Amino acid sequence: MGKGLRPALENNFMSEKYLTGKVALVTGASRGLGKAIAVALAREGAAIAAVARSEEALKETLEAIRAAGGTAEPFAGDVSDNAAMDALVEKVTARFEHIDVLVNNAGVTRDGLLARMTSEAWDTVINTNLKGAFNLTRPVGRLMVRQRAGRIVNISSVIGLMGNAGQANYAASKAGLIGFSKSVAREFASRGITCNVVCPGFIETDMTKELNADMRTKLMERIPLQRFGQAEDIAGVVAFLCSPAASYITGQILTVDGGMVM
Ligand code: NAP
Repeated sequence: MGKGLRPALENNFMSEKYLTGKVALVTGASRGLGKAIAVALAREGAAIAAVARSEEALKETLEAIRAAGGTAEPFAGDVSDNAAMDALVEKVTARFEHIDVLVNNAGVTRDGLLARMTSEAWDTVINTNLKGAFNLTRPVGRLMVRQRAGRIVNISSVIGLMGNAGQANYAASKAGLIGFSKSVAREFASRGITCNVVCPGFIETDMTKELNADMRTKLMERIPLQRFGQAEDIAGVVAFLCSPAASYITGQILTVDGGMVM
């Protein structure tokens, strides 16, 4: 590396916190991936608007961020409720004035074979995982368009790429999120807004801890890197997509799965 380059790189990517003065709204921030994403973005200087269904559930996330000197506020709401999300975005802007980063991470599973899948199980998953992203991207997108800047990251899944027996609702929601994100990326590109998708593989969180030993062994056989992912593996990629280094990346799917899908 040329002599003059190293200090420049260190200034840009290592010493400066690139989200200082920015506000990031993260859904599903009470635990798992959302919590790790909120902490990672706060570490880069962003003030965090943390969303989950109850303020109580967000306590640990807020404490972790505040203990490290960061700023975070709780905003309770159900992402599947369109009117509630419009109101929530208004509350966030009343508190923070702007929203620069949106991470649509909240998600649920209601697994079951299609023949026995209830309409309720279908609706809950689609309304949370897919409509939830619409419910927030529309009002936040309007703000970002006015700001002529913004980063949107949607958390899909390798299941949205591959499908999975017993997860038709979940796979449909996660595949839908990919088409949604590419459309948003095209609509908003001229306003300096990027929209990308992260597809996690098998990550150790509450969502995956129900899997029995046999299923875990079978899964591990399909992971070339021979380990399950940690929430921080996803959080780091989301932070990268919100960094200056990713300013020319939009409409892309980053699969973070230890090589499972390639
Ligand atoms: P998790 O531990 O079960 O956490 C889910 C989060 O979503 C919680 O914070 C939960 O908050 C929130 N949430 C659920 N329904 C909500 C709603 N209606 N309104 C607002 N918030 C809601 O899950 P995770 O493993 O961290 O997964 C996070 C995301 O990554 C999901 O979209 C999931 O599909 C995706 N993903 C995970 C994996 C994995 O291996 N873990 C793999 C691929 C993709 P409250 O319950 O406190 O409201």
